Amino acid sequence: MTEVQLQQLVEEISLQFFKRPFKHRAIFNKRLKTTGGRYHLTDHHLDFNPTLFAGISQAEQAGIIKHELCHYHLHLLKKGYRHQDRDFKVLLAKVGGSRYAPRLPQVKNKVKRQVMYRCLGCGQIITRQRKINTARYVCGKCGEKLQFLKIVS
Ligand SMILES: [Zn+2]
Ligand SMILES: [Zn+2]
Repeated sequence: MTEVQLQQLVEEISLQFFKRPFKHRAIFNKRLKTTGGRYHLTDHHLDFNPTLFAGISQAEQAGIIKHELCHYHLHLLKKGYRHQDRDFKVLLAKVGGSRYAPRLPQVKNKVKRQVMYRCLGCGQIITRQRKINTARYVCGKCGEKLQFLKIVS
């Protein structure tokens, strides 16, 4: 999505769901890391996370945009625009905005590499994040030697 498309989308969602025009700028900000978007109280522009937007569905994008537009419109209307305000909660639920930024699928499904060993004595499975020297390490339960099984990643 380009920034022009982002601007258009925010304007469309604003008119469709809030019945009010979005008259400021919506831009992509690469420095947003943990949040999907941010509303700036001082100049009323909206920042969105380009990395996140590239990896989520259109419905999730709309949810984030609605969330930021709730801050935007309520603030300009001098109503409760903060997360804990009743005005905010009511409007967010009404327009179907997301409460939290969705996690990127890659981040969500990331599995750490695991090296698996089996004890030759008691059979217990031991997993480590890196390879261990089986000549030196023994089972903590029974003291027998460990046998390399496989690497799961
Ligand atoms: Zn927010
Ligand atoms: Zn053992």
